[in-house]
Amino acid sequence: HVEITDVRKTFGATEVLKGVSLTVPPGGVAVIVGPSGSGKSTLLRTINHLEKVDGGYITIDGELVGYRLRHNKLHELREKDILKQRTDIGMVFQNFNLFPHLTALENVIEAPIVAQGRPKEEARKRALELLDRVGLKDRASAYPRQLSGGQQQRVAIARALALNPKILLFDEPTSALDPELVNEVLDVIRELATSGTTLIIVTHEMGFARDVADTVVFMDEGQIIEQGGPQNIFTNPREPRTRSFFSKVI
Ligand code: ATP
Ligand code: MG
Repeated sequence: HVEITDVRKTFGATEVLKGVSLTVPPGGVAVIVGPSGSGKSTLLRTINHLEKVDGGYITIDGELVGYRLRHNKLHELREKDILKQRTDIGMVFQNFNLFPHLTALENVIEAPIVAQGRPKEEARKRALELLDRVGLKDRASAYPRQLSGGQQQRVAIARALALNPKILLFDEPTSALDPELVNEVLDVIRELATSGTTLIIVTHEMGFARDVADTVVFMDEGQIIEQGGPQNIFTNPREPRTRSFFSKVI
């Protein structure tokens, strides 16, 4: 359960998040769309405290992200506690970001062993299950450079799942892929969406958004302009800016 409340973020003199509030219930799937520069990536990055907020706050299952409340004031967590908290929040980026010198399997077991202190054998067993889930069991010993972009991204998804996160964030997971590889990655995310994983996804794939989203969030200039079920928002957007955006991208 993710609760984003009036989040503000400023870079220099520019306010790029101007009071964003969004709730994603357990198992919910929110898809964020909007023009380049509207603040989508910045918003995702505040959710795991890769960006500090300048106002507002975020909670995951009731726990404040990046801060604790003491004597009515927010105090930033220590680095160690931030890293620990981040293990609850999986993130998959546009460019896969796998460790190039580790095999697919080693990429997936790294964080459970290092960050969570899990026994190697247990981590290995679970990693093989996850690689199987993303259709890559037979590529467990391949290095990233030996895998296609779509396969690398599926390893990245398995790696994010290995920590049993409370929520998974995707930032344009298919935009670096050749068109023929997009669907194999979207299919994995579709499967996660139907299996009850809480997801927040930034994407330009509107057909996919229509399929998986419980709620579609349209952002522009650092604000949520409109939000609604895919049926409503795609066929009957209320706001002129939403209408104009969809008329260009669909
Ligand atoms: P895109 O669709 O192109 O990925 P976006 O919606 O993800 O765009 P953001 O990356 O969140 O947009 O950027 C929002 C604004 O914040 C942009 O104007 C960007 O230039 C600015 N910005 C983002 N990160 C930083 C940073 N570290 N320092 C300064 N400005 C930044
Ligand atoms: Mg972005």
